[in-house]
Amino acid sequence: MGIKVAKFGGTSLADAEQIRKTKGIIDADPDRRYIVASAPGMRYDDDSKVTDLLYLLSSHIEQHAPYGQILDLIKERFLELESGLGVDAQIEGEFRDFEAMLKVGVTSDYIASRGEYFNAKILAAYLGYKFVDAADFVLFGDKGRFLMEETNNALKVALRKYERAVVPGFYGTLPNGGIKTFSRGGSDITGSIVARAVGADVYENWTDVSGFLMADPRIVDSPKAIDTLSYKELRELSYMGAKVLHENAIYPVRLAGIPVNIRNTNDPGSPGTMITAGEHVREGRIVTGIAGSKDFTVIAIYKNMMSAEIGYIKRVLNILDDYDVSLEHIPSGVDTISLVIASKYLDGKLEDIVDDIEKKTRADSVDVYEDMALIATVGYGMAMRPGVSAKLFGTLYEAGINIRMIDQGSSEMNIIVGVANSDFENAIRSIYKAFVG
Ligand code: ASP
Repeated sequence: MGIKVAKFGGTSLADAEQIRKTKGIIDADPDRRYIVASAPGMRYDDDSKVTDLLYLLSSHIEQHAPYGQILDLIKERFLELESGLGVDAQIEGEFRDFEAMLKVGVTSDYIASRGEYFNAKILAAYLGYKFVDAADFVLFGDKGRFLMEETNNALKVALRKYERAVVPGFYGTLPNGGIKTFSRGGSDITGSIVARAVGADVYENWTDVSGFLMADPRIVDSPKAIDTLSYKELRELSYMGAKVLHENAIYPVRLAGIPVNIRNTNDPGSPGTMITAGEHVREGRIVTGIAGSKDFTVIAIYKNMMSAEIGYIKRVLNILDDYDVSLEHIPSGVDTISLVIASKYLDGKLEDIVDDIEKKTRADSVDVYEDMALIATVGYGMAMRPGVSAKLFGTLYEAGINIRMIDQGSSEMNIIVGVANSDFENAIRSIYKAFVG
């Protein structure tokens, strides 16, 4: 028998009907033996995610505001699941314990983690699988750093004992026994960790879209789906804003060479997107995907003979460090460098930073371009093919879009252009049309 780890996201587990679909998917393939559960997500537009309600509960408690109603709302969602599925997961008793803990005083991470905890309990009861609490095996260090190898070893031993199990996503334990969560969307990371620990053949990530699309469907009309993608291409695309999987979810499976399959619970017949190590240049495919985001600021620095001056870039970066500003990209020329920074980090600091760069590094000129968008055109097919950049730049030129910055990664599988925020959508549509059709 093979092993598949299937992680189900919030919308796949939002209500009894969705959980029934989820069970149908799990039962359809006996290899789906280890299941990772998110907290219940939105059932309809404007609905609340249970995790958001839990954070709200936590902030009410912190501010000593009455929280009974929010707690009831959360409890109601789980009781509804329990009765809708006709299982006994002892949710009443679990909530009595939870309320008692709230009175004693618990951290916001603990409160937030209960969405996954209760949901995994219900799912395990409904599937007839063993419930294995992530708190016992997903380990964080003193400073909250995730302990990847320790976790892998502990989980490996724990899960070996059970042929089938449900593990709650999103959280683990600190050395002092307290609960610690990953960042939002972190159940994807738990799924990846579990997949590595059990040596899965594939890590299936079940969500509410049929995988990655070649561009954002809010910008490009019915973009094509991406059937296969490499880990590296995924990294480039998700860094630039294609959000289907948590950024940090790739690392554990990548280490173990386990492919990730993004699937749609509401359309299980679709093969979704397969993410593998293969750096495949697919016949006829030049570009794999296009992604981007808005609201960057570019600080362009020119200094005569910069390239001959030892430590110049270091001095510039030290200034950013002084202001606690992190940098996205540093495209450079012979005597120029550009600092590309997310504008939100520069609030109230931009003038002082420019001043410091001018004075402390004796730059000849410092120009600032605000309201910039970055667009990444990604694909292994680009590296082998002459004329790709010419086509990209030509397309933007024909569309009347001014390219303010170009950054081509050394792998040649990614060309990033900087354009004005106002040209963002148009630029993406033009690139898509030129390379995909
Ligand atoms: N429930 C958590 C969140 O909403 C984690 C997850 O769903 O992955 O962020």
